[in-house]
Amino acid sequence: MIDFKKSIVQPIQSASLDARGIELFVKRDDLLHPDISGNKWRKLRFNVIQCFKNHNAGILTFGGAYSNHLLATAAACAEVGLKSIGIVRGDELTSESNAILKRCTSYGMELQFVSRELYQLRNDRYYQENLLIQNSNYYVVPEGGANYLGMIGCQELVSQIEQPFDVIVSAQGTSTTSCGLALGLDDSQRLMVVPVLKGYDSIGEMQSLMSRSAMAEDAIDFALSSVLVSDEYHFGGYWKYTWELLEFIRSFHNRYRIKLDPIYTGKAMYALQKEIDSGAMDGKRIVFLHTGGVQGAQSIIEKSGFDLFGG
Ligand SMILES: *Cc1c(COP(=O)(O)O)cnc(C)c1O
Repeated sequence: MIDFKKSIVQPIQSASLDARGIELFVKRDDLLHPDISGNKWRKLRFNVIQCFKNHNAGILTFGGAYSNHLLATAAACAEVGLKSIGIVRGDELTSESNAILKRCTSYGMELQFVSRELYQLRNDRYYQENLLIQNSNYYVVPEGGANYLGMIGCQELVSQIEQPFDVIVSAQGTSTTSCGLALGLDDSQRLMVVPVLKGYDSIGEMQSLMSRSAMAEDAIDFALSSVLVSDEYHFGGYWKYTWELLEFIRSFHNRYRIKLDPIYTGKAMYALQKEIDSGAMDGKRIVFLHTGGVQGAQSIIEKSGFDLFGG
């Protein structure tokens, strides 16, 4: 259904990169699908396959009001003929509350709105079992697609990059994508992660997801030894941004015609730019993973009143 060949590896050229001997490429997972945003399909793919193997009716998953993951799940399930249920944080919301929730509904996703307190229990086994009693024969995917199969789907991405590279760069939310990437690297390659949440323990979170996936401790340590954390570019935290970040996204788009979003990819590219400016990347071949997300960020972009992609 989704052709991975659509995700091209696009070279980025500039005199300042040349001067530093840097080769930069953008892996365009944002081109995979308009609603099944970039890495969200990577994380869902093997879960969808598992769902068919189990003969489940559909996928039940969790997300906030503007969740790229909910939208991706709704769209992916619609395309393959599975049902979908989204447990949404916030019982004041309705399926009309915003464009993302409307779009989920139009894909046939059944939205169930729960209080913030109840939503806290989303990873609790007893809570999930209760949900499955009420919604029988559904397959549960955690918030953000953060499970073993999600991770493995992102590992696959690395094998699809034909260009040789030294460093791959990714924004980090649940760290499912970064875990998969780390597992796909060879010994000499490095992963630079840019957490978009304030105070996020990148290595700890990656360790925890890998342990939950029953990986051996020394294999985890080995995978994590290739990770570089660039944790000063969250711009105040999740869904927070500054005018400087918006200005950066606008000028990047003006120059390269690639849209970044102010929640994930804009922060990651900004961080990479700073690392490049510091000299830390001199002589490196770098792949920046464009994880998509411009769709989900539409409301924040509109609210800012900033003409991001007009010029
Ligand atoms: C969800 C998302 C991420 C974060 O991926 P994780 O696997 O949760 O770390 C990064 N970029 C975009 C655009 C996303 O939508």
